[in-house]
Amino acid sequence: MTSPRILIIYTGGTIGMMANPATGALETFDWEHVSNCVPELQRFHYRIDALTFGKPIDSSDMEPKYWARMVEIIAENYDRYDGFVLLHGTDTMAFTASALSFMLENLGKPVIITGSQLPIGQLRTDGKENLLTSIEVAAAQHPDGRPMVPEVCIFFENRLMRGNRTTKINSEGFNAFRSHNYHSLAHAGIHIKFEEPFILRRDPSLPFRPHYLLDNHVMILTLFPGIREEVVESVLSLPSLRGLILKTYGAGNAPQKPWLFERLKALSRRGVVIVNTTQCSLGAVEMGRYESSLQLIEAGVINGHDMTLECVVTKLMFLLGHNYSAERIQQLMNTSIAGEATLPSS
Ligand code: ASP
Repeated sequence: MTSPRILIIYTGGTIGMMANPATGALETFDWEHVSNCVPELQRFHYRIDALTFGKPIDSSDMEPKYWARMVEIIAENYDRYDGFVLLHGTDTMAFTASALSFMLENLGKPVIITGSQLPIGQLRTDGKENLLTSIEVAAAQHPDGRPMVPEVCIFFENRLMRGNRTTKINSEGFNAFRSHNYHSLAHAGIHIKFEEPFILRRDPSLPFRPHYLLDNHVMILTLFPGIREEVVESVLSLPSLRGLILKTYGAGNAPQKPWLFERLKALSRRGVVIVNTTQCSLGAVEMGRYESSLQLIEAGVINGHDMTLECVVTKLMFLLGHNYSAERIQQLMNTSIAGEATLPSS
């Protein structure tokens, strides 16, 4: 067996940042700096290459065009490497992980995204462990050479999670990510223990297909007691709007205000896709359980099941980017295309 080949793609984020001596603020640095801080990288018997992604960015500046660039880099290098490690800021990491899970169709290799809460040069950094273990996960193979985790994942603080199931839950602690509605794919302790039954199984006969098109004419509307009609109206009357994510209460409920249902109905008649996601981190939308969500079904709102907000936003951008009809989008929202949703029958 030849030793695995791993490509590290450095996009930016705290992991590679350094404090500006004048202002004290953290500013992005480069891969050279990161690798100098981790001499342990030399001890892997894998072939590790790294490339820096244009000008490294703070992930708060993440944009769909950067996701397309990441997909391009992975596609260009797909046959040359056995696994990919993407170093990324934590703030929008879950959005990137979700977007890539849709854009990298039939992915047959690991794409492990990681970062850190403290810069890698700092004494108590979490970046070193996250980087080293992510490389091990990206290189892990079954005895017959098949990759252990052929999917887009986030690895953070001992836990490997499916990327499109993950959310940032902590702005300070090292344990910053959770997959509330899906089992972790591995735990790193003395050994890295993979939870094989939960890892995606791909049909190896299907060819890897990178996608680049996303449509970001989408909006999130969070409901709250006292929400005003004119505010909702100003959001919903945007002529360029193609997708709306409604953040509802509990199992997918909305206040029973006739004006709200009328506006939503008019919007879906206009062809705008409306998806219902819950404000709860755990559990799923169950439309029709209460009268308050029955009316949403009548208004043409689609069930977002137990998908994370990050997942629904990027899935909607992906489906709209492919110019599918509203019916087809509804069908695909009710399908788990990259392991992103638990559907009632599954
Ligand atoms: N603002 C940083 C970023 O997301 C935070 C981090 O990396 O943790 O790029």
